[in-house]
Order: sequence, then structure tokens, then C-alpha cells
Amino acid sequence: MTTPTLKIHDTLSREKRDFVPQDEKNVRMYVCGPTVYDKAHIGNARPVVVFDVLARLLRHIYGEGHVTYARNITDIDDKINARAHERGIPIRDLTDQTIEVFHADMKALNALPPDVEPRATDTIDEMIEMIQVLIDKGNAYAAEGHVLFNVPSMDDYGRLSRRKRDEQIAGARVEVAPYKKDAADFVLWKPSDPEKGEPGWDSPWGYGRPGWHIECSAMSKKILGETFDIHGGGLDLIFPHHENEIAQSRCAHDTDVMANYWMHNGYLMAEGEKMSKSLGNFYTVNELLEEFPGEAIRLLLLKTHYRQPLDFTKEGLAEAKRELDGFYQALRAGGTTASGSGDSPAGIVDALSDDLNTPKALSVLHELLSALNRGDEAVRQGLLAGAALLGLLQQDPEDWFKGQPKSAAGGLSDDEIDAKIQARTEARKNKDFATSDAIRDELQDMGIILEDGAQGTTWRRG
Ligand SMILES: [Zn+2]
Repeated sequence: MTTPTLKIHDTLSREKRDFVPQDEKNVRMYVCGPTVYDKAHIGNARPVVVFDVLARLLRHIYGEGHVTYARNITDIDDKINARAHERGIPIRDLTDQTIEVFHADMKALNALPPDVEPRATDTIDEMIEMIQVLIDKGNAYAAEGHVLFNVPSMDDYGRLSRRKRDEQIAGARVEVAPYKKDAADFVLWKPSDPEKGEPGWDSPWGYGRPGWHIECSAMSKKILGETFDIHGGGLDLIFPHHENEIAQSRCAHDTDVMANYWMHNGYLMAEGEKMSKSLGNFYTVNELLEEFPGEAIRLLLLKTHYRQPLDFTKEGLAEAKRELDGFYQALRAGGTTASGSGDSPAGIVDALSDDLNTPKALSVLHELLSALNRGDEAVRQGLLAGAALLGLLQQDPEDWFKGQPKSAAGGLSDDEIDAKIQARTEARKNKDFATSDAIRDELQDMGIILEDGAQGTTWRRG
């Protein structure tokens, strides 16, 4: 089987380009991870799921063990300081707790852990070293406890975002301070006040902490090298974050590129509007998981092409769950257990190789479902292998139907439901149909549907 050429839309060149890795034996991808001060919302989950599919595809093409996927954790940020202060807890407690919930939430979405997950707090030495290199090369300067990157020192600054200079200035995070040589200069290092509970480290420029952008430049260099293949993240990171990462990394390492391909997923709205707490459409993954299975959330995220804006709705989520019910019904009906480890159908690999066209890959999956429903058992293995590339349909169908979130299932545990079904079977054996019907109705009221078959009674949460 020949593998189709992977094509990737590159934000820097504004083109869909053939993907050629620097080293086929070690394909390297860096994706900006969460700033850990609060639970992940559904907009944070989109890049996690999108780049999880890309990592799966890269491993399919180049082989397990030939891909290094790094996704960082930003655990130094002023939002973190503010939240820890608000809650009256140490910063490290807040970041550790948030990371734990993040990991559990992303696992529920079937997102595999990245190969490497660096924390900013573990990379301080490398940041200080990189800032010193930038100062030595004349790309940065120290002033009043700060170190700033001097934007005019880089001839082709701004190629990724193609912003005009006045827009660049508006994006330089701190206000125009008297110590700035140029209004567009941005912070690499800033002073910390321990009295205010700000985290800090000793440096040649005094006690302080890094700016956000230098964190990713230092972490990606440490793990993937001076240049690597793919850098990803959400569209909102193009400016200033990724533009500034490029400036720091290229100037520090004297390279033409930081990454050869820049990929950005589109914006996410909820219920047709920008997510906001006041509109009541601010969905955290954690809350959604109480109502819906993680796999349904994942499917909904993949139904829209990653570059397109996505309108996330509860109605869409319910529809995604029904779709998965249909898949798992068909898989359960066959009886035999098949694994997703066989050959993936060419149609799915082709679709994903075309700039990660997940809607098209899902339509191929639906064609395979129709064939399976017509009794064509030969497609079963391929359907599962193709779905594995998308991170879908990998659980036992029984677990899917039983494992729906508790709030949607009357609060009964699986064992309690099994015990009730056992009692109903006994009653039926004794021809006590009044009791057996009563148990069935009771379970039905709780959203649990019984199906009597030759092998006995199975159940699912409807
Ligand atoms: Zn980043």
C-alpha cells in the first residue's frame, strides 16, 4: 500500500504544501499547551483534539516511535498568580490541581498524552540562557529590571501575521513604557515582587520571571532542537505569541525558520456566539462530561475542518452522541470483537493526508457503517482501524452503552442495574410478569433501555 503525500496548510506561506520532515526517523511537532489557572473550556479542547489526530496520522505514516509530539504547560503567567491569590493557595497547588483535571478531561476526549509535556517552571535555566544570547547578539536589551526584545533589530519581523506596524504596537503586551526603545518591543523577562506573591527566579537582570513567548521558544528548543517540523496552536496565537516565538528563536539560533510548517485551528463559538460566562454559553470540558460522553465531544469537534470556525452547540453534541450510538449498535450486532490495529481504509488515510480533512474521513466511516449494516462483515476491521486514526470507536460497544455519564442515567451504578435485571429475569422465569414489567418500567424511567435477545438481556443508557 502506498502512502499518499501528506499536505499541510502552512500559515506562514499561506499555502497547502507537501509535508517533508527534516528527519523521517524523528518527525517533530510542538503545540502550545494550556495556561493552567482554570479548567479547560471547549475552545481549549479543539487544538488538543485536532493535533492529537495529526499525531496519530504522523505515527501511521512514519511509524510508532518516529514522531516526537511536544505540548507544553504554561505554569508561569500573571493570570495564574492572580487566581492563586484570589483562592488563597500556593501557585504550585493551583497549577498541579489544574493540570490533573486537564489530563483527566483530555483523556476523556480520547486525546493521547503528548510524547513530552514540558513545564515552563522546569525550563527557567534555558530561558535565561536564550535571553542572554539575544542580548549578546544585539536583539535584546536590559532596562530597569526588564529585558525586552528589540523588534527593529530583526529585518523580517512580522511575516507570520503580516500585521502593519501600528497593529504590532497594539499587540505588544505591556503598555508603552519609558524604558522601551521601540513601541513594538516585547518583554522577555520582568521583575517579580515577592511581597506581592509573584513567582521569581534569580537572573543576571535581577529577581524576576520570564514573559510568555520566551517560554515556548526555550521549551521547543530544549526538546525538539533549534528548528523542527510543525508548530501548531489556535488562530488566536498567531499574533503576538507565535510571531514573537519566531523572532526569539530565529535570532537566537541564526536560522531561517523556527518550524517548517505553521498550523492553526480556527475559532470556536458556542450556540452561535462568542463564549462568555454572562451569556451562559461558556462550556468547560469538565461540565460537558457530566452530561455527554467524551467521545461525542471529540466527534463533534472533528465534524468541522480544523481551519474552519466551529459553532459548538449542545444540540450538535446530542446529535454526535446519536451517531456514535449508531456505530456502536452496528459493532455490537456483529458479536465478534475486532481491534483497530489492522490496515486503515485508503479513503480515510487519503482524506486525513489532505490537510487533515476530518469531515471527509468521517463520511468514509459512515459509508463503511452502511456496508456493515448491510451485513458486509469484511469492512468491520477497516472501519475500526480507520476510526482509530480519528481516535473514535475504540471502546467495547457494551461499555459505550453502559458507560454514559451518571447524571444521564438515573444515578444507578452498573452493578445496581445488573442486579435489577437479574431480579427481572428471575421474575420472568417464575411467570411473575407484573414484577418483571414493573422493573423494566422503573429502569426505563431512569433512561435505561433493556433489550432481550437470545443471549439474555443487554442494556444501555438511552
Ligand atoms: Zn506557545
